[in-house]
Amino acid sequence: MKEIKSIRDIPLENYIEGGSPTCAGCGPEIGLKLALKVLGKDTVIVNPAGCMTLLCNYPYTPLKVSWIHNAIENAPATAIGIKAALKARKREMNVICYAGDGATYDIGFGSLSFMAMKNEKVIYICYNNEVYGNTGNQWNTATPEHASTTTTPVGEKSRGNNFRQKDMVKIMSDHGVYSATANLAFPIDYIQKLQKAMNNPGMSYIELFGACPTNWYANPAKTIEISKLAVETAFWPLIERENGKLKINYKPEKLMPIHEFLQTQGRFSHMTKKEVQEMQEKIARRWHLLTSEEKKNEY
Ligand code: SF4
Repeated sequence: MKEIKSIRDIPLENYIEGGSPTCAGCGPEIGLKLALKVLGKDTVIVNPAGCMTLLCNYPYTPLKVSWIHNAIENAPATAIGIKAALKARKREMNVICYAGDGATYDIGFGSLSFMAMKNEKVIYICYNNEVYGNTGNQWNTATPEHASTTTTPVGEKSRGNNFRQKDMVKIMSDHGVYSATANLAFPIDYIQKLQKAMNNPGMSYIELFGACPTNWYANPAKTIEISKLAVETAFWPLIERENGKLKINYKPEKLMPIHEFLQTQGRFSHMTKKEVQEMQEKIARRWHLLTSEEKKNEY
């Protein structure tokens, strides 16, 4: 497929039809629909248990590509097996893991780490909605500070989640694989990263901001708006790490205040002005670190 440079270049074919059972405004499903337009029909999706597992309730599935459902911890092991089977049959297909953050950051991390060390040619897309989504909004290590979840509820003594998030893109890059973030409000950047991954002889890791109106207590009609605010405030910087070098793919002229992003979601509605200010300072520090690291690459 030729390089996609504008919205007009995106293929019209759909490999997910209407009638999906996911929630209205589900970011991860839009992300899969867009990815499949680029990956095409010769694609096998390996999906560990998570929200997207709702798509494969045979015979009522909107999917038009092959799909293998896995236990939450072993999608990469299955993907490695599929690669071996395709090789034995001399067949070329895209093998994709489409996994939630619970499977990626926590329960399936051992299996993912091994696949990265093996540098198997698999594209691993983590749709990150920052909680265990389909089991009822529980905390995991992708959950941002202060987010209210059912296991980090706001109460007299709790201000929501008080753990740091893992830097999964950096962790995967340290395994030596191509590693990047993506966001639905920047579809061409997402698609170009997928195309780069398709041409990469080894493993690629792409982490997609997976806006989740249901668990974030947000308006389903505002999925793309919330996604854009995540990038414009640097809550979700668009970056890629390749061969030890960092590139920031989009730099807002001026970062928007984090309050603009937080106010779109009920999970942050308890935050005080002081807590918002502290988060703002942390984001500014991280942005400074990223821009400084990128500058060092240029020397
Ligand atoms: Fe999508 Fe969130 Fe609903 Fe899961 S809970 S299907 S991620 S909107």
